[in-house]
Amino acid sequence: MAEIDIRIEGKIGRVTLNRPDALNALTYDMVLKIDDALDAWANDDRVALILIDAVGDKAFCAGGDIQQLYDTASAGDYEYGRKFWRDEYRMNAKLANFPKPCIALMHGFTMGGGVGVSCHGSHRVVCESSQISMPECGIGLVPDVGGSLLLAQAPGRLGEYLGTTGARMKAGDAIYCGFADYYIPQTDWAELTARLVETGDYTRVDEMAQTPPASALEAQQEQIDKAFGGETINDILNGFDDSDWCLAAAKTLGRGCPLSIAASIALVHRVRGFTSIEPALKQEFRFTYRSASDGDFVEGIRAAIVDKDRNPKWKIPTLRDVRDIDVTKMLMPLGKNDLKLEDTHMKIGFIGLGNMGAPMARNLVAAGHAVSVFDVAGISVEGANTVQTAADAATEADVVITMLPNGAILRNVAGEVIPAMKSGACLVDCSTVDVESARTVAEQTRAAGLLSVDAPVSGGIGGAEAGTLTFMAGGSEAAFAVANPLFDIMGQKAVHCGDAGAGQAAKICNNMILGATMIVTCEAFALADKLGLDRQKMFDVASTSSGYSWSMNAYCPAPGVGPTSPSDNDYKPGFAAELMLKDLNLAQQAAEAADASTPLGQHARDMYAAFVEDGGLGMDFSAMLPHLSNQKYDA
Ligand code: NAD
Repeated sequence: MAEIDIRIEGKIGRVTLNRPDALNALTYDMVLKIDDALDAWANDDRVALILIDAVGDKAFCAGGDIQQLYDTASAGDYEYGRKFWRDEYRMNAKLANFPKPCIALMHGFTMGGGVGVSCHGSHRVVCESSQISMPECGIGLVPDVGGSLLLAQAPGRLGEYLGTTGARMKAGDAIYCGFADYYIPQTDWAELTARLVETGDYTRVDEMAQTPPASALEAQQEQIDKAFGGETINDILNGFDDSDWCLAAAKTLGRGCPLSIAASIALVHRVRGFTSIEPALKQEFRFTYRSASDGDFVEGIRAAIVDKDRNPKWKIPTLRDVRDIDVTKMLMPLGKNDLKLEDTHMKIGFIGLGNMGAPMARNLVAAGHAVSVFDVAGISVEGANTVQTAADAATEADVVITMLPNGAILRNVAGEVIPAMKSGACLVDCSTVDVESARTVAEQTRAAGLLSVDAPVSGGIGGAEAGTLTFMAGGSEAAFAVANPLFDIMGQKAVHCGDAGAGQAAKICNNMILGATMIVTCEAFALADKLGLDRQKMFDVASTSSGYSWSMNAYCPAPGVGPTSPSDNDYKPGFAAELMLKDLNLAQQAAEAADASTPLGQHARDMYAAFVEDGGLGMDFSAMLPHLSNQKYDA
């Protein structure tokens, strides 16, 4: 039999973990197979309920399979673990929300990941051999797989105690603490299973349940509440007295990872009050995501499982050394890497794969979206489906993104894609174009029953590659809501500026500032040269004084000075001078139409026009510096 056996038996869907030699530890493949089974059985009328059990005497499931996690993380590859946890937590959430009864038979050890595939079910059965625990702090993790929710819901301060010490719950304890519901001796399980298979009736579990043994933890409740009532681990330690119980608890805590223990207390406190598993999993994921890169996960596994020397060298050596900020850093949001439990994958058509479009499309592919791409220049993007026309990219797409040179091209492309788009889909134009073109396209989409957003960007190629662009969006609330998760992937910030055209309006105002500041930054370097001032010194002063700006600090036009920018690459664009001229022209058009006074913007436009004519075409817009150094402007 394979390491997991998934089948329909009689009236039930049955999942049997079958790695008894590895205490049924969950591999990534097992996680995915359980996930698939849950998807398949949720709406399958043949399946009245699900039964999850396991082969072997010792364990239902001793946790996640740590070997591959360790091998990859110790080699510096943190992505495997993150993928494993992400998919495991999605499966845990599916199980917790499963629309049919879910019965788990938990004999022997049920630890960590094992809790995640059993204790979120509706009917959790324990027996005389059951021992349930969340021992993650021992290996540099925190209680996860939704375990933090179960801990937070346990009576009094049991959650803090169980989550930090990894103490084992026997059958009576597990029922007392809310990790199990029914006690049925293991000798009766074959009979129970047969009845379930035959009838598909979950009330058979109630019929066979017996009175559980007394809970030893219940007897310690008062002691536990008193000792573990503090807000932080330091508060808790300060409250320990010199009773044998406290000494034993302190000794157990001393064996765990200090950062994990401190974070587990914070985690249980944050999760207390939640009633659903999703926010708990999201909090847990923040820690596990960082556990190998910033925490002690690799060292924890090495000491406990690989070398078995039980002598871990934790990054923060003792509980007393852990500061609040250390915990905050492990539990703070992950931005676009935060755990997403909703199925957010979309079909996306991406048109225009130049300097900006290609890396933007690449980031969407990396985030798991199905992307079809088209560019007249025949450019393709790894992992995306290259198609032959713009209309092909738009057919079936939930969202069509355009990243094109100008408004005239946008209007042509829109004419081609709008008729091909499915009803309700959203056209997101990220190019910089005139407000009029943006509004025309928005009107066409509206007439065709589609949504649209004009969403030009700031941040340049570096931002497009790193996924840190800023989006300035114009369109309805509904359209913005559709596009926003994609802005989250391609950028770090999206501002909903108003109705159709508002994004382009914000963009041209922004770029008028950029054009003028780049010119004056270049003028300052050219003047500094003439005054015999070292460029680096000039940067050191201006970048930290009132002369600082994005042009100076992030995109310095002087080669070898400041962060790497197109000036360090012979002024290859980057952001081409002719595109800056385009934006400055757009700003002037808009200023004329609105009767706004923009003399400096006008002068910047004239200077870029002269520069583009005089050798600047195809150069980065920061090449204004060598241009100015060589010639005097009277314009
Ligand atoms: P680019 O010239 O590198 O890319 C444009 C792409 O569009 C090219 O690959 C071209 O082949 C393709 N294209 C042209 N006509 C097409 C058509 N009909 N169908 C399909 N593809 C077509 O330009 P870019 O630097 O990627 O800039 C794209 C847009 O983003 C512009 O509007 C620009 O103003 C804006 N922008 C650029 C930057 C930057 O730093 N480069 C920054 C912010 C905004």
